[in-house]
Amino acid sequence: MLDYDLHCHSNISDGTLTPAELVHRAAERGVKVLALTDHDDMDGLEEARAAAIQHGMTFINGVEISVTWRTHTVHIVGLGIDPAYPPLAEGLRSVRSGRGERARKMSEELAKIGIGGVLQGAYQYAENPNMIGRTHFARYLVEAGHCKDVKSVFSRYLVKGKPGYVPHQWAALADTVNWVRGSGGVAVLAHPGRYMVGRNSMGKKTMHELLADFVKCGGQAIEVVSGSHTPEQYAEFARYAAEFNLMCSCGSDFHGPGESYRDVGKMPDFPLGCTPVWQLWEHDAASKAD
Ligand code: AMP
Ligand code: MN
Ligand code: MN
Ligand code: MN
Repeated sequence: MLDYDLHCHSNISDGTLTPAELVHRAAERGVKVLALTDHDDMDGLEEARAAAIQHGMTFINGVEISVTWRTHTVHIVGLGIDPAYPPLAEGLRSVRSGRGERARKMSEELAKIGIGGVLQGAYQYAENPNMIGRTHFARYLVEAGHCKDVKSVFSRYLVKGKPGYVPHQWAALADTVNWVRGSGGVAVLAHPGRYMVGRNSMGKKTMHELLADFVKCGGQAIEVVSGSHTPEQYAEFARYAAEFNLMCSCGSDFHGPGESYRDVGKMPDFPLGCTPVWQLWEHDAASKAD
């Protein structure tokens, strides 16, 4: 197992634990190097870092940025970012700014099919109202008895072709990679396997084009081992990493106890031939010490 978890969420975005609670849980479960990667917001990093120091863990500043590439929503994780870098902070502010209006439209769409009161209900789950998103809607729809769990909400509502879906324009891929790299961070394509399932999913040709574009923009790594991937997908994306000369990352994508496919914690080993993304910063640290 790898004692690195480089993708997880706190209640600063759509997780259920506070940053400190998340770090505590990660430490208990054997993580030695943790990145907090909340969606489009860096406000949890300070609290998480302070908690990580208390546990003797290495903490990596992270973020997961929502991107629109062609007609697809993809997520880019930034690792080792500097939250004080103005283009990154301002870029994320602009990404967040559309969420309130989008939420209002989502609730209007649901009201049309007779599901009322969703906007207010969803905001009750959003600790950080600036980051209102589909997961908060999903939790409320479960509470109100429309679905048995969050996962089934995303098969019946809130996704393309289903009630409550509202198209949205997120950040551009090139801007996102520039914000991350400009701040000193590494840009990682998050859970690529997720883009190849469901409605409007990418085929292999489009995945190749996305990866080529990502590399051209300065992207350096992809998630190979992810809570969103099957073991077959670990192997598949290890092959893409080799083909595109990308480094490999791993992370649970944990959102909360009982809600995620995989708990925060140690991750399965990479397939043979993968170069771990942490070589980038561990090599930097080693050469500085020389
Ligand atoms: P948003 O950024 O508001 O569009 O919300 C996206 C979030 O919804 C993701 O980060 C996941 O936490 C959640 N989500 C999307 N699809 C699913 C799914 N099929 N099952 C569970 N959660 C999902
Ligand atoms: Mn999420
Ligand atoms: Mn994601
Ligand atoms: Mn995530």
